Amino acid sequence: MLVGHPRYRVDQVWEGLYVQGKDPAELTNLPKVLRGQLDEVAPAALRVAAQQHADRGDTIKTLWELHDGRLIESVLMHYPGRTTVCVSTQAGCAMACGFCATGQAGFERHLSVGEIVEQVVRARRSAADSERRLSNVVFMGMGEPLANYDRLWGAIRRLHVDLGLSARHLTVSTVGIVPGIRRMATEPEPVNLAVSLHAADDELRDALVPVNRRYPLRELTAACEDYLAAKGRRLSFEWALIDGVNDRTIDAERLAALARRLRAHVNLIPLNATPGYPTTGTPPERVAAFRDRLEDLGANATVRRNRGNDIDAACGQLAARPRTDLQPQVTEVQPPTRRL
Ligand code: SAH
Repeated sequence: MLVGHPRYRVDQVWEGLYVQGKDPAELTNLPKVLRGQLDEVAPAALRVAAQQHADRGDTIKTLWELHDGRLIESVLMHYPGRTTVCVSTQAGCAMACGFCATGQAGFERHLSVGEIVEQVVRARRSAADSERRLSNVVFMGMGEPLANYDRLWGAIRRLHVDLGLSARHLTVSTVGIVPGIRRMATEPEPVNLAVSLHAADDELRDALVPVNRRYPLRELTAACEDYLAAKGRRLSFEWALIDGVNDRTIDAERLAALARRLRAHVNLIPLNATPGYPTTGTPPERVAAFRDRLEDLGANATVRRNRGNDIDAACGQLAARPRTDLQPQVTEVQPPTRRL
């Protein structure tokens, strides 16, 4: 559609739509007719349905409505030295982990490449509005990234090539889909791999993460080892600490042994409350004790700072509400806080 337009025009369109993440209507440096044409051929894939702020504006959860009315969420997080967006790869999720709000709600559909990329483009723009540069993308929102492999990788390529984000600043988080991890090892982009482990023995993991029955720990850890050997990237394990379930001494010992063997970094996340799971998170002093135990046993571990608990934006709390609930929830976007 830009055939016949001068080169600088093409650059303006590219800069506006992709680099700055604007809507066609906002590209006031273009002729009006062209803006209208762009809006027709490249309408925004995502519409803001609601937005909530927490952590004094450093955490922003956006509920997006897709063209077919489905809802997904992404979370933008500003830290002192970096800005990260956590994006969704599916509407809903089929993995059925009982402690996760998205898992409790079930699967709706895969997101397209455009729907995944646009979450990042819009986050980048929102970050720029607060004079921050989006540096990291984690595929840790709603859905299982490796169950939507081709579109996930299409999005990763575009983030890398078109948006210039380094693959080293992209992290794919998986429940442990072994064929997906093996495919990742053959890709040219060396992204980080995070595995949602939660248990280091098959009996407990079968109960917490149902896909473990299909891909048990032995196969999962072998695939992780091969990924590390192929890519040389850091592996991390996510471990949601559930009171009395996976926070025992034996759990720390098993986890430490595995983390040491794979040289994985352990991210401990005290379980966040979800409506459909009766158990609560490990209390803070025992979370610290669990971390210390891991360190004593020679494993690297940090407690993940919980972002956005009060707005249900924390890990495992993303569950888009039905449309009928939406209208009253739209909160005003606060003016960006200037930070240097
Ligand atoms: N399906 C992918 C990515 C989405 S889940 C995966 O499983 O990795 C993102 C992270 O949040 C995962 O580590 C997941 O296990 C964790 N999580 C899910 N529910 C949680 C909860 N209620 N509290 C804390 N973490 C949770």
